[in-house]
Amino acid sequence: MNVKNEMKISFKSISENEGFARTVVCAFAAMLDPNMEEISDIRTAVSEAVTNCIVHAYRNEEGIIEISAKILSNNEIYIKIKDKGCGIQDVKQAMEPLFTTAPCEERAGLGFAVMESFMDSLKVSSKPGKGTTVIMRKKIGGQNE
Ligand code: ATP
Ligand code: MG
Repeated sequence: MNVKNEMKISFKSISENEGFARTVVCAFAAMLDPNMEEISDIRTAVSEAVTNCIVHAYRNEEGIIEISAKILSNNEIYIKIKDKGCGIQDVKQAMEPLFTTAPCEERAGLGFAVMESFMDSLKVSSKPGKGTTVIMRKKIGGQNE
């Protein structure tokens, strides 16, 4: 991984910070000169991942969410979103479209599907009781130039 730039932030798992997180990551991605669609894809994917940390990982508590991001030399952005919350029992099942553990809260179970479709790659690793890490990558300027 040839890293041109990198950053790291951590913040409290309160819903006010969802907008903060996506704005920071999009500002960081700006050096790749993304178009509107690419920025919107990144914004949505980060939102979904951070929302999951707030509503699922730290369901009945407040915790810390950590984001680190890198700009790679092949014009790719790498985004890692990490929590130390409840973790996921079965990651494969959790990633299936429409699977949710919170149907009564009007969750659609589409967060991971959205991240997967808006980014080039998505990797989720988790340990029950320990937390979850989501890694997403997206090449900027690839198809649209
Ligand atoms: P939606 O995102 O459409 O509002 P959702 O959050 O339930 O609904 P996904 O984002 O696809 O759907 O997540 C699927 C399931 O994976 C969640 O219902 C939850 O059980 C689990 N999950 C996702 N992220 C985390 C996390 N960071 N920590 C613990 N569990 C998680
Ligand atoms: Mg979700």
